[in-house]
Amino acid sequence: MTPQTDLFGDTRTMPVLAPLGRETMQQRHARRLAHDRHPLTNLPLCGIEGATCGNCQHRFRRGGGARSYNKCDLMRNTGGPGTDLRLKWPGCMSWKGKVGT
Ligand code: SF4
Repeated sequence: MTPQTDLFGDTRTMPVLAPLGRETMQQRHARRLAHDRHPLTNLPLCGIEGATCGNCQHRFRRGGGARSYNKCDLMRNTGGPGTDLRLKWPGCMSWKGKVGT
């Protein structure tokens, strides 16, 4: 709440409203993680100690060289950053551990 003066010189306390607009991709990822949801798939987290996208069988790399990106083969993948995975993200309920790990 912030005090503001109206047209008639009266001071009123006005609520501070959240700005309208779309949340950024980073904000969406953080919001989902805060609710124990996977940032990309929005599925519940598997809760297995040490399970991450980086050690999941569904993770694959698209592209080559310096321009390669981690993706999930359970997702409909676009060529854009909206479907990129972070290896450190906790595994979702579809996590499948790699053989020998
Ligand atoms: S299935 Fe595996 S790679 Fe895909 S989002 Fe879940 S944990 Fe990550």
